[in-house]
Order: sequence, then structure tokens, then C-alpha cells
Amino acid sequence: MKFVIENFGCQMNDHDMERMSALLIDGGLTCIDDAQEADVIIVNTCCVREKAEQKFYSRMGRLKSIKAKKGTILGVTGCIAQLEKRSILDRIPFIDFALGPSNIHKINEAVERATKGIPSFDFTENGCSTTLLIKPINQNSGVKTSVTIMKGCNNFCSYCVVPYVRGRESSRESGEVLDEIRGFVAAGIKEVTLLGQNVNSYNKSSGDISFPELLRRINDIDGIERIRFVTSHPKDLSPDLIDCFGALDKLCEAIHLPFQSGSDKILELMNRGYTKNDYREKIAALRTRCKDMAITADCIVGFPGEDEKDFFDTMNLIEEVRFDNIFSFAYSPRKFTRAATLPGEVARDLAMERLHHFQDTQKAITIAKNRVMIGKKVEVLVEDISKNSEEELMGRTRTNKIVNFKGKRNLIKKLVEVEIIKGYANSLKGKNPNAKGGALC
Ligand code: SAH
Ligand code: SF4
Repeated sequence: MKFVIENFGCQMNDHDMERMSALLIDGGLTCIDDAQEADVIIVNTCCVREKAEQKFYSRMGRLKSIKAKKGTILGVTGCIAQLEKRSILDRIPFIDFALGPSNIHKINEAVERATKGIPSFDFTENGCSTTLLIKPINQNSGVKTSVTIMKGCNNFCSYCVVPYVRGRESSRESGEVLDEIRGFVAAGIKEVTLLGQNVNSYNKSSGDISFPELLRRINDIDGIERIRFVTSHPKDLSPDLIDCFGALDKLCEAIHLPFQSGSDKILELMNRGYTKNDYREKIAALRTRCKDMAITADCIVGFPGEDEKDFFDTMNLIEEVRFDNIFSFAYSPRKFTRAATLPGEVARDLAMERLHHFQDTQKAITIAKNRVMIGKKVEVLVEDISKNSEEELMGRTRTNKIVNFKGKRNLIKKLVEVEIIKGYANSLKGKNPNAKGGALC
């Protein structure tokens, strides 16, 4: 049987998709790209914003007609399944199975039952502690991979549905994480990204080692060249963690540190646990450790109660910090969340107007920061042939910026030094790839 997994959402979902693929291939199925040709189509879903949900339901409408023509097995996994549980059938009664994120280890069983006409629905929370042990499909094929070190979230930011669909925070045992990374090195992996909803609260409530200690131990593994992590919560960014930047040679000089708003009033309503000033102080401390560190973030505009002054405070923060990039969103009310019951709704048109102003300002900052790199020589880990041209290669700087440059294919999977000649909104252009570069600070 042939299967397709269509994926929506965050890096955790990418990782879950790779795990399900590995399980299905192990179970004797073949992974293909074309939904029209598939016997099984699985849609791995995201519900963090309403737009992702709308996209999912409209896609399901189209998949329904494929199923009607070909009898394709249709399954839904991930966060919408977990959020809606059996009521998902009210809108899409034609599906054969639905599994929440903690139950993806049951994917082969669900497919097999579907071949016999038996539906499966499983939304057990924290269903399987070993779900994180399932090896994803892609991790041994490239030069970089990600390792999930924790799942779930205890923060309950007032706008966010994640704690309701991904359950409570739980960290993987450090010995297991380190063994997995040693295994990757043996398979040729040079860069590892530690994944979790809030990685810097890793092991906060267990006796196992802290997140900074985990970083130090990974830094000691021979063969690993680069370490990254995502996502961090500003309130859990400890001095010990800040000190790792610059001190650990393999830890890349890049951090994704969502601030969500620059207004103290809104931050409080969001239940974020820090003020604008706390955030600014953390940025200053990071830049003291490493002056050219790349800083990216997430931000929400149009949160209930956000007035002109609050929005001005947010704009002020982005102009002051000069982030390398920001993922910005218009607030979207979500089921179960506290923010969905707050007064002071911001009209959609006004929220979109603020979002566009925000995004235009940030884009100009991103381009200006990328142009500052022109003339500099930077270390690039070459990942693949460029999407732009067969003659070019694509890699990333330690600051996680994409660089396209002309070079021989034997450089793929190698660390090279590249001279930057152009800076755009989403990438850099380089030339003259050369032997390995080094850390920024
Ligand atoms: N755990 C991560 C990311 C969570 S979801 C963190 O805390 O940083 C990714 C981003 O989606 C969030 O950072 C936030 O900016 C955005 N987001 C989450 N819920 C949202 C909502 N209801 N409306 C708009 N944006 C939202
Ligand atoms: Fe959601 Fe906040 Fe947890 Fe991030 S930290 S997943 S935004 S509740």
C-alpha cells in the first residue's frame, strides 16, 4: 500500500510526521508524494490559529472527493484531532481514523483496522511515553537533524491552545537524548536542533540534569559541529543558559525568543510572566555574551485590549532590538483559552492594519541586517543543492541564515567559509566557498 502524509504546523509536527512515516514504512507501506495515487492519506494537523484550521477543513473537502472516487483510507492526526476528539466527525464524518499527538505510535494499527472497515479514534493524553523514542525517517539521511527533548507545555499563555492539545510538560531522560545524538554522529549528522515547546524549562521538575548542562554534554560529543534549540521562553532563559553562548564552541549564535507583545499590560493579560524591560535585559545579556548573535521571535498583534499605546510599545521594542526576523500573527481566538473570553476585541481590519505596519517595518530591518553582512566571510554548513539553481548550493550560517552560492557538489555536508555578496529578505548570496570558518564569539 502507498501512503501520503500531508503536514501542517510547527517543527514538532514535522517531527511527528517523520515518526509516522518511519512506522508506516516499517509496517510495509511505501511513502509517495501524490495524494491521487495513495491508498492511505494522513493529514497531520495544527490548531494554533484559526487559519490553520480553515486550511485543514478545506483540504479535507478535496480529499473527500478523492476518497469517493478511489476508496482511499483517510486519517487525521495531530492537534485538531486532539482538540475536537470525536466531534471532528460532525464536520468530516467520512474519515477512517483520528489520533491525537500522543497516540501516533498506533498509526499502523489504525491503518490496518481501516482496511477492514473498522474506524479508530484515540485521544488519550500523554498516551505513550515512548512516542518520543520512535525514530523519525529523515534523521540519518542529511547533515542535520532534530531531537525532541521534551513535549507539552505548562505555561498556559492565555491565547494558546497548545497546553490543551499537547498535554503537560514532560522531558526525555538525558541519557537517552545523549545516546540518540551519539548515534546520529555515527550516521554523519553534524548539526542537531533540540526541540520542544519550551526547551529551556527542560527537566525543571525532575532530578535529571538542567538544560544548560545538557548543552554542555552535547558540546562534548565528538563529531557534532553545531547545536541549536527551539523554542525558548523568556522567563526561563536563565543566566546559566545565557552563559552557554560564547562558552560552548558548538552552540550556534542564534536564539528564537518570542516576546509576543511589547506592552506590559498585554504581556500580563497574556500570562507571559515577564515585562518588556525583563525582555530587554535578557537581550542585552545575550548580546554581552555575543554581540552579533541572531535574535528571532514571535509576536501577536490585535490581542484583546490592545490599544494604540500598546501597539506603539510593541513597535518600539522591534525598532530598538532590531531582530533578525519575526514571525508575526494577528490574534486568533482559540477554544478553551482564557483570552477567548476577554473583553476589548480588536476589530479585524484594525488588527490587519497593525500587522501589515509591523511586518513592513520588520522586513526593512531584516533586509538591512542581512545587507550588513555583505563583505563578511561566514561559516556555512552546506545542506543541499539550492532550490534557486542546479549550479548553486544551499547552506546555513551559524546564525541560521540561508546562503546560496556557486560551488561543487562535493561540498554538500561540509563546513565551508563563504563570502557574502548580497542580502535579501529571506536569504543571502555568497561566493568563493573555502575551508572551514568558525564561531562568532
Ligand atoms: N511554544 C512556542 C510556540 C507556540 S505556538 C512558544 O511559546 O514560543 C507559535 C506561535 O504562534 C506563538 O509564539 C504565538 O506567537 C503564535 N500563537 C499562538 N497562539 C496564537 C493565537 N491564538 N493567535 C495568534 N497567534 C498565536
Ligand atoms: Fe503556548 Fe505559551 Fe506554551 Fe508557547 S509557552 S506553547 S505560547 S502556552
